[in-house]
Amino acid sequence: MNTNKGYVAFVGAGPGDIGLITTKGIECLKKADIVLYDRLANPRLLRFTSKDCVFIYCGKLPNNHIMRQEKINETLVAEALKGKYVVRLKGGDPSVFGRVGEEAEAIAAYDIPFDIVPGVTSSIAASAYAGIPVTHRDYSTSFTIRTGHACKKNEAAIHHKPKQEAIGDTLAYYMGVKGLPGICESLIAQGKASDTKAAVIEWATLGKQRVVEGTLETIVEKVKEAKLGNPALTIIGDVVQLRSSIAWFEKKSFYQKKLLIAKSSSEESVLERYFSKNGAEAYAFPTIKSNPHSYTAEELQLIVNAERLIFASVEGVELVFTQLFKANYDVRDLPRQIEHLSDKTRKELEKRGIHSLKASYDKRSAILIGNEQAIEKQAFSDNLLALPSHTIEIDERFQEVNERLLTENQWETVIFPNKRSIDLFLQEWRKFSTENPMELSFAAIGQSVQEYAVKQGFNHIDEQVQQVLDNQKWKCES
Ligand code: SAH
Repeated sequence: MNTNKGYVAFVGAGPGDIGLITTKGIECLKKADIVLYDRLANPRLLRFTSKDCVFIYCGKLPNNHIMRQEKINETLVAEALKGKYVVRLKGGDPSVFGRVGEEAEAIAAYDIPFDIVPGVTSSIAASAYAGIPVTHRDYSTSFTIRTGHACKKNEAAIHHKPKQEAIGDTLAYYMGVKGLPGICESLIAQGKASDTKAAVIEWATLGKQRVVEGTLETIVEKVKEAKLGNPALTIIGDVVQLRSSIAWFEKKSFYQKKLLIAKSSSEESVLERYFSKNGAEAYAFPTIKSNPHSYTAEELQLIVNAERLIFASVEGVELVFTQLFKANYDVRDLPRQIEHLSDKTRKELEKRGIHSLKASYDKRSAILIGNEQAIEKQAFSDNLLALPSHTIEIDERFQEVNERLLTENQWETVIFPNKRSIDLFLQEWRKFSTENPMELSFAAIGQSVQEYAVKQGFNHIDEQVQQVLDNQKWKCES
């Protein structure tokens, strides 16, 4: 028997907004060799993992197949027994309708060590983001979590008669869209007033959140009208009326805006964060990974002997300094003239005690260091040698996620941070979607990028988004 057992962490991903995972959850993701994730765990969280981590999707696929529970348990056990650090990433809290009991039992049976890391459960998060406090001194002194859908064995329990005092307070129904008519009817039959307020919250805490409000009598019709679907949470009780004064998320300036950010450099994740924080559904696509280059002894020699050394990226600075140091060089061996392209790179050099100059054309020879794409077509010298520090590749592990997110959402606008991102975006979009990408509105950073987008066929500028990019507000607030 293998004595070198691995570890399993059952991690609550929170309800959707990636800011709602715990720091402990993030630590687990960083350590993971393999992550098994569900449909309701925000896939953006997978970016916290290392680049060698393996992802396994356990949710529903387009052909409606789902990874069976036994298969999930088997995989968890098998991977842990190989000595792997396995993360089981679950939407919300793993213990709330999350089957953590079954999975943890399977792990415990093999004496594999494990953690259960709680998460913010969707009923509490959905209520918060819809402006509904689950308890309130004047309206509700209890909060009950229920399922609107149970396996055969428990069916009777869903509609069991709760005690009179219990139905006076706040009720949250998970998995309850289909069963909503039955839920409302049975609550009324049990004595709950038919004008008791109810709210249904779809995709809570994300930019695509939608809220429908009514009473036990009207909510079914309203949900049907708005075509709300899964995942959605139903909150029933007098506390729902507080929404009218404290709903806050819906007031965000980009609430419900569906934005793609064409990925190509590190900046787009700053944009993703900025727009998500302001209420948008924002997703940087495609996900790329950068592979560091290992400089040869000759290349390092060229670097130290350069007349001018130009850094095009922060990663380039990090890589060159580490590799020079390993090869027994140090800061005293660097060329006298060091230059930067961006302010971020200047700051990185400053951290290392170096005052650099802003790169500009100069006829003296130079070596340029940065990501493969970033250093293409730069003209800083007639005698310029580019030594790429990193190559950029599409991260194929995100195939499933990209396919699902691209087809599941009605994207409105795409942001292009630079020209290269436009090419990459179009190339990848066509892999996953049959829709015409030119139907999307767009916004771009800088005039030349905008012109390039128009040349490629994009023709409608999203003024609201463009304004944010133009006044650089997103940079200050990130
Ligand atoms: N463990 C999860 C619940 C899993 S059961 C948790 O603690 O939240 C799946 C149900 O959770 C869905 O049918 C839906 O009712 C609810 N749910 C999960 N995420 C949601 C979200 N972002 N918005 C609305 N409902 C959500």
